Parts: sequence; C-alpha cells; structure tokens
Amino acid sequence: MVAHASLPQSSNVPGGIAIVPLENVIGSGKPQAWLGKQPVLVTSDHNQWFAVVGLALDTAPGAHELRADIGGETQLRQFTVHPKKYPEQHIKLKDKGKVELSATNLARFKREFKAITGYKHHWQAAPQTDLAFILPAKGRLSSRFGLRRFFNDKPRAPHAGLDLAVARGTPVEASAAGTVLAADDYFFNGKTVFIDHGNGLITMYCHLDKFKVKAGQAVRKGQVIALSGMTGRATGPHLHWSVILNGAMVDPELFVQ
Ligand SMILES: [Zn+2]
Repeated sequence: MVAHASLPQSSNVPGGIAIVPLENVIGSGKPQAWLGKQPVLVTSDHNQWFAVVGLALDTAPGAHELRADIGGETQLRQFTVHPKKYPEQHIKLKDKGKVELSATNLARFKREFKAITGYKHHWQAAPQTDLAFILPAKGRLSSRFGLRRFFNDKPRAPHAGLDLAVARGTPVEASAAGTVLAADDYFFNGKTVFIDHGNGLITMYCHLDKFKVKAGQAVRKGQVIALSGMTGRATGPHLHWSVILNGAMVDPELFVQ
C-alpha cells in the first residue's frame, strides 16, 4: 500500500474507503464526483485529483461506479469492493428497556434517527479538508469498527465506530478542524457532538458527559469539545467515535496516521 500524507488509507471493503483517481491536477479544475445522488469528497495528492469514497457497511461486494464531472464532461469511474467478514460480538443486556423500546422511546428514537441521518448526509463544500485525524481521546481501544453485534441474541446494527475506554470526565478533542453541526442528547448515543470537516466528512462523538462547544461553533484540531461519560446506551464509561464520509459510516482507523 502506498502511503500518502494527505489521503486516508484505502480499503475497498464495506465500511472502508475507495480512493479513485480522477484526473491530473495540471491544467484541470477541481472535478466533482457523486456516488448515486450523494456528492463525494474530491482532493488532490501528488498532482492527481482523487475521489475519496466512503463505503457503507451494507455495500454489496463487486463492481461499483462513480460519476464524475471533469472539466464539464461527465465521466464514469469503476471501482471494486471486496467482501469483508467482521467479527461477531454477543452481549447480554439486563435492562430490557434498552432492547425492546416502549412506544414513547420508539417515537423518540424515530425522531432522533431522522435528525442524525440528516447530519450524516450533510454536505458543505470546503476548499480543503484535513484527512489526517488525531484520536479524540487517549485511552485503550476497547471495541473496533464493524463488529457484528447481537443483544440478547437479537442481531443489531453493526458497531459503526470505535470505542476508547476512558474514565468519565476525560477531555475529548476534535479529530480535525471543522464546525460543530450539532450538540444534542439522544436516546441511544447519549450526549453527542457532530463536527463537519467539509466536503461530506463528519465526525461523531457519543456518550459524552458535558459539552464544551455549541452548534455552529468553529473548532480547531485538538480543541476540547466535551468531557467523556456514559450517557445514552453505554454499559460503562467510554468514548464512541464515528467517522462519516458521503453519508457512510467508515472505519475511523483509516484516517489516523
Ligand atoms: Zn461504540
């Protein structure tokens, strides 16, 4: 694998990132690219434009197509997604209230799901996007991205982020510069901060104890945005950190150098 300073690691699997070459930078304006209807991040590296494509965990392995506008001309670029089998995790939960939702909690969850889905698909064009992230907290990596989880033997959404085991009150830092998209309290994710890094790259920090930022605020890389905790559905204090690219939850470790 070729190491690039400004590109994340490529990994053409569900939950990974495809880096698709578009055009030489010399003599061409910045291309635009789309995966279906969702705009895709385009950046340059070593005089070459690349589309950096987030691949959702439910992406079907096989051939995929990216649509690009290069110098006013529509072009198609093919890329291949390889299968990946993530490990399974079985969890027993005693608090059934967090497994089988009451009507009130289900209504709340549906409202929040809609809002969260909107943040994940947020698109704000930016001249530059910093793709080299720092880990948002210093702590043991206690759960990796992609784990296929079962709560009381019922299949649940796979683990779409990574967990850092940190004590309550640990400072949580912005992985890169950006703008706070939202700082809200959710049923499952607890107190959560979303940061928009531009061009469809969003980070999400969950189960926080205290917010240190507000929606709309600009943040620097490494700025303390919150204190960690265990709000929402958390069996112990930890920071859940997710990275979203063109609406897809991808493996955050691909961005950490
Ligand atoms: Zn987690």
